[in-house]
Amino acid sequence: MRYVYKFGGTSLENAEKIKKVALFIKQRWKKFELAVVVSAMGKTTNKLEALASSLGESKCETAKASLLSVGENISAAMLSLALENIGVPTKILTAKELKIITMGNKLSAVITSADVGVLKKYLGEKVVIVTGFQGIDEKGDLTLLGRGGSDTTAVMLASLLDCKAYIFTDVDGYHICDPNRHPSRKLKHINIYSAIEGAYASAKILDKRCLEIANKYKTDVEVLKSLSKSGTEVSFAPFEGYFVDGISFKTELSFVCYAYKKTNYLQIKFKNCNICPLFEETISLDKNIYKCLIEAKDMEKLRKSGLKLKEERVEEVLLTGSGLTFHRDFLKKVQNIIKNGEFCVKYLSLHPTFLKILVGQGEAERLVGELIKLKF
Ligand code: ASP
Ligand code: MG
Repeated sequence: MRYVYKFGGTSLENAEKIKKVALFIKQRWKKFELAVVVSAMGKTTNKLEALASSLGESKCETAKASLLSVGENISAAMLSLALENIGVPTKILTAKELKIITMGNKLSAVITSADVGVLKKYLGEKVVIVTGFQGIDEKGDLTLLGRGGSDTTAVMLASLLDCKAYIFTDVDGYHICDPNRHPSRKLKHINIYSAIEGAYASAKILDKRCLEIANKYKTDVEVLKSLSKSGTEVSFAPFEGYFVDGISFKTELSFVCYAYKKTNYLQIKFKNCNICPLFEETISLDKNIYKCLIEAKDMEKLRKSGLKLKEERVEEVLLTGSGLTFHRDFLKKVQNIIKNGEFCVKYLSLHPTFLKILVGQGEAERLVGELIKLKF
């Protein structure tokens, strides 16, 4: 069996923790072929970012990428030392050796190809340690995959190696709700579509980019607390039956409704101001009614650009799951909660895989508290 393991910053925070990770790997490496992706120790990347900022605004993204990428090199070398010290042979591979070619913005670049040939050569013989977060551009200069990008490295490698990725992190997996706010059960499985919707909305467990890769290549991913045996598996189960497996909320949002006849003036404005709405829809009646949701801070950019727009401050509650439109009682139950709790709903949209509700300011967390009582 072959696996990709990924260890995040908290699992590699200090020498003690690195030694524990090394022992964990030692117990497994003879049974399995292991490629281990590492991200920077603790808060190293933040510190490197601050270091870059201390010189003023950085104009050269290539130079900034090479500075920020150093954290992953340190982790890889530290883990290699720890493993070699206990008799486990290792090989470190970087983005250059794996030819992780990227395009686009150098600090949050998108992977276009990678070559795992060299990695396969060492698998089995040694534990292969891969520096996460890094890519290269077509000239061979270092690029980065965006903050939190080593999860993307891990899932991308697992897709190419045709194996499962275990993402070891500081949470024990997915819960229906954020367990720090609303105690809720841990999920053994989460539907990939729920995980993706959640990642776009607010959940910070697995990044949307690594989930999109997992979905595209149907790569098995499990997220689990560092050094534990099991967490939550991302599943590709077909939509059968009805269930809710995620409830989250987001605040500081602006809901914009705009009626226009001919031009899509507003969308052009968004593009010019570099604003990416969280969702948008157009309904064509006698006029086109355009609705969108943007971060409240983006309203400021629009105002500065001279655009006066009617907006409403809102908060978003998102339920994700499966078969939601087919379960006719589901919406009724939610509507009763809204009515009895006197929530001020501005927008509600039900799809098979999610229910999105926009409520007034200060209402989202209370609504989540009521919805969780439904015990899906
Ligand atoms: N070290 C990088 C960051 O802090 C990448 C990662 O953690 O995945 O964003
Ligand atoms: Mg991370």
